[in-house]
Amino acid sequence: MTQITPQPGIMDITLYQAGKSHVTGQARVIKLSANENPFGPSPKAIAAAQAAAPDLHRYPSTDHAELRTAIGEVHDLDPDRIICGVGSDEVLQFITQSYTGPGDEVIYTEHGFSMYPILARQAGATPVCVPERDRRVDVDQILNAVTDQTRLVFLTNPGNPTGTMLDDAEVARLAQALPAHILLVVDGAYAEFVRGETPFDGGAGLVDAHPNVIMTRTFSKVYGLGGLRVGWGYGAREIIDVLNRVRQPFNLSNLSLNTAEAALRDRDYLSFCMTENAKWRDWLAAELEALGVASDESQTNFILARFADQEEAEACDAVLQSRGVIVRKVAGYGIPNGLRITVGDEEGCRAVVAGIQAFKEGARA
Ligand SMILES: *Cc1c(COP(=O)(O)O)cnc(C)c1O
Repeated sequence: MTQITPQPGIMDITLYQAGKSHVTGQARVIKLSANENPFGPSPKAIAAAQAAAPDLHRYPSTDHAELRTAIGEVHDLDPDRIICGVGSDEVLQFITQSYTGPGDEVIYTEHGFSMYPILARQAGATPVCVPERDRRVDVDQILNAVTDQTRLVFLTNPGNPTGTMLDDAEVARLAQALPAHILLVVDGAYAEFVRGETPFDGGAGLVDAHPNVIMTRTFSKVYGLGGLRVGWGYGAREIIDVLNRVRQPFNLSNLSLNTAEAALRDRDYLSFCMTENAKWRDWLAAELEALGVASDESQTNFILARFADQEEAEACDAVLQSRGVIVRKVAGYGIPNGLRITVGDEEGCRAVVAGIQAFKEGARA
């Protein structure tokens, strides 16, 4: 037996389960399990990645100035208050590492992202899970869970895997009511997909109004760059300064920085992806409803389909898999009767609907 023991909390971590990408016996699959962009990255991003390849012997910039400037321009934010990470996961890790430790409590919600308890435990802190109400975050439940040990609250808005959203007033009420020494992390991974006349700011306005709020964003979803691993955060200057101290100087490669910037600047491609998502999201929800499968109105690039019970959800999943369609079971997120279905392109959406229809007809026969 080794006497070498890890830090407290680490052995309590349950490994993250990624969305499946293979089915045994299926050569060609339609993957709708990881909320990826079905159209892939912008052609300009691909060109930027190729253009970066010959310089891979050079170390990248340590301050990410060009990418931060681009983010600042596109989102109308101060680049000095932006930090970039290896996916938003890394930014979330900087936050928990910097602001929590043994004895501290980290609040997240019932159907919240499974990285939150993992990150809390990595830091030696205690994750505290609070109930949601009908798959919606409940601000009062969060506030009731606050103790003298609470240091941080994670909120995904819109939520994954629920697809639902807290409105601005409710998030503002939460930010207002939390004591000033508790950090509210607003994870805006799906901000680009939110419905509405004006684009949703992901929580940036809230960050400006409250020095204890930080927003995280990602290139993994609407920008189609999940494999590249780039995300960013926006917060008070003092907080960004703290996070930069735990960030490795070369955390992002030249290739990552240049590719993300090219993707960000291709606004035409972004709006194409947003329009397609909105169109097929509504089509998918309507088709599911016609088949007797309920879902909440989605503000994201996926739909949480609800079945009668876990047995029916798993049986439907098995039929989909036999047809090469991969969706995500979400029992681990406290929704055993749900299947989370990423909004695909037309072919993907038609394939998943055909599979669910076949399942329903098979179940009746
Ligand atoms: C996909 C997702 C992210 C993004 O993670 P990256 O590390 O940026 O790829 C963050 N939060 C939630 C809730 C997500 O679903």
